[in-house]
Amino acid sequence: MSSPSRQALVPFVSVEHMMRLVLHIGVEQMMVDLAHAIEADFRRWPEFDKTPRVASHSDIGVIELMPTSDGQHYGFKYVNGHPSNTRQGLQTVTAFGVLADVATGYPVLISEMTILTALRTAATSALAAKWLAPRDARVMAMIGNGAQAEFQALAMKALCGIEEVRLYDIDPAATRKCSANLAGRGLRVIACTTAEEAILGAQIITTCTADKQYATILTDNMVGGGVHINAVGGDCPGKTELHRDILLRAGIFVEYPPQTRIEGEIQQLDPDHPVTELWQVISGAALGRRDAGQVTLFDSVGFAIEDFSALRHVHQCLQGTGFFQELDMIADPDDPRDLFGMLCRAEAAVRVA
Ligand code: NAD
Repeated sequence: MSSPSRQALVPFVSVEHMMRLVLHIGVEQMMVDLAHAIEADFRRWPEFDKTPRVASHSDIGVIELMPTSDGQHYGFKYVNGHPSNTRQGLQTVTAFGVLADVATGYPVLISEMTILTALRTAATSALAAKWLAPRDARVMAMIGNGAQAEFQALAMKALCGIEEVRLYDIDPAATRKCSANLAGRGLRVIACTTAEEAILGAQIITTCTADKQYATILTDNMVGGGVHINAVGGDCPGKTELHRDILLRAGIFVEYPPQTRIEGEIQQLDPDHPVTELWQVISGAALGRRDAGQVTLFDSVGFAIEDFSALRHVHQCLQGTGFFQELDMIADPDDPRDLFGMLCRAEAAVRVA
């Protein structure tokens, strides 16, 4: 049997290889680099194909496909969200993705994206906070101390200079896990027993809880002037974290409005409620924080361009490393129109063997 050509071998990054790559670069450095990659792609936002993600809902979760292209590369992510999974020892969010060359349609990378999603989500949060949060923010509250939490805290430290993180979760075991993982990483870590205690003195409040319902993690009276809220956990229809009154007085910033209106906190508002797109703030086309007293809200749901940026960044980082294996994924007959002949030759080779 003939061996496949170089183009037919697709680099595959397993979970093990992704961890080795991230540790090689450094987890905080990786998130800083991802934030720069996302920021650069947000600056050229109009070049991308954009569509709300394609979601398949069940009573207990969602499976989604997130495609985009800049005309040179095409990328998509497969991702799920199942808040009750952790009760069975499974993760709430898992993902993998593909990057392809638009000129040939051939994939150039296939990668795990569970770890990469946590990194890119945290990088996007910190990027939004860099543009919207008060400049002197040094304290953040982290409400929801599950799989995403440590990434969120460390990205805010690396990109925004956060020095203290105040943790709260309805499950104290999650807070203990998060405190232990963050120990010795240069943050003052305070474990709290209520959400009210967690937000004391915080200029950045991140909510990253998982529950498929209209939850009220923050009520209006809990949020003082000048605070930046980073609402990460509400990311599908019927799943929100903030009381509607907070939204009515906040400056709201989103990724892609047609998707966020379906999935984000703003699903609670009228469909024409004004929002600002984050890319417009980054590119200078729109104002970010208006004044020191304004409550700013990044209504994060996760958009395909962030995954595209992350896949392209990983693709670049892989060059010259051994942190991948090559998958024989694309059928590669010597004569491209003789696919059946390739099968016949394989049959003959199997018979001889
Ligand atoms: P997880 O299940 O690992 O952690 C969620 C945590 O929230 C758990 O520890 C749980 O005890 C806690 N929690 C639930 N209800 C709470 C409440 N009322 N108050 C305080 N804590 C509460 O999930 P995860 O992987 O960390 O993801 C969290 C959420 O973020 C999910 O809803 C997920 O869909 C979402 N998410 C969003 C993005 C994005 O880009 N916006 C990306 C990844 C994940």
